Amino acid sequence: AIILGIETSCDETAAAIVMRDQSGKGVIRSNVVRSQLDEHAAFGGVVPELAARAHVTYLDHIIAQACREAGIQLSDVDAIAATAGPGLIGGVLVGLTTAKALAAALDKPLIAVNHLEGHALTARLTDGVQFPYLMLLVSGGHSQFVLVRGVGDYERWGTTIDDALGEAFDKVAKLLTLGHPGGPAVEAIAKSGDPKRFKFPRPLLREARLDFSFSGLKTAVRLQAEALAPLSDQDVADIAASFQAAVADVIAVRSRQALERFAAEFPGQEMRLVVAGGVAANQAIGTALKAVCATAGATLVVPPIALCTDNGAMIAWAGAERYALGAHDDLNFVARPRWPLDLDDMKVSADAA
Ligand code: ATP
Ligand code: MG
Ligand code: FE
Repeated sequence: AIILGIETSCDETAAAIVMRDQSGKGVIRSNVVRSQLDEHAAFGGVVPELAARAHVTYLDHIIAQACREAGIQLSDVDAIAATAGPGLIGGVLVGLTTAKALAAALDKPLIAVNHLEGHALTARLTDGVQFPYLMLLVSGGHSQFVLVRGVGDYERWGTTIDDALGEAFDKVAKLLTLGHPGGPAVEAIAKSGDPKRFKFPRPLLREARLDFSFSGLKTAVRLQAEALAPLSDQDVADIAASFQAAVADVIAVRSRQALERFAAEFPGQEMRLVVAGGVAANQAIGTALKAVCATAGATLVVPPIALCTDNGAMIAWAGAERYALGAHDDLNFVARPRWPLDLDDMKVSADAA
């Protein structure tokens, strides 16, 4: 099947054409992403109303470009998939409404995709990963462990009780005046810093549950920065490196615990840890995860970073997986600003197939 995927839940306007064959293999025919970094740069974060307006301005062109690059006509697609949540509601409405209009005009099925399911299934497109597997989603809006049992079949094992990890990177970057988005800036400057100079807290690590907390760490970083002000370049680099080391520690310990739980629940099952979300680009975290997986005997899967951050191909692919199971959605599907992955309504119902 040929699927058009539309993603507008945050600050990327994205559309892609993905093909899935009978055997379940996927091919990305095009994947067009327009980031709104410039629109939001002056504000130090994403401004929802500006994001929605930019989606309105650019989405049509992005979809046309995705079709052109794939060498197809819109009428060639078998279904239209769009992010229907969770995310900034104005943006979600732009993408979902566009998808509904296309579905109605072309008389093709609409597939309303949970953005998190897009992240969760990407590793099947890129690496053909088989169910079940464990996903660590670390992005600007989410930090969670999710057991992926099948399409639409998820169990959340842990989440953040305050800030998302990408958000923590962004806030630390802001207070060190490194600009937005913060993750890449913090990582770059941390390379010349001493990760051992400051011993920042590793929140919640003494507790057994698989949750995260990053706001206390962020506060510790702020207090340290204030205590040292004015900061020299070396101070900034050392704070960034020490913050990143704390984060990498937390991710490593939690991932080891999550893999232990996986091993206990699926004895004898090959263990796979799939990483998704923009923070997957971070090499310090990647190195820590490699070590954890090597020790645990698990396979670490990190899709190419362009497919870890928000993109249309992941939505098209999630749509393709759902379409293959016979799923489709009503044109009156209501956009959802919040939409946890592990609701029963994510399941592809038997009567759909
Ligand atoms: P969500 O997918 O949860 O709705 P989002 O769209 O903001 O959120 P992504 O686009 O997947 O998330 O990722 C962006 C986040 O990743 C930002 O917070 C950014 O700072 C962070 N990030 C990107 N590169 C790095 C890096 N090298 N190190 C750490 N963080 C990074
Ligand atoms: Mg983004
Ligand atoms: Fe995302």
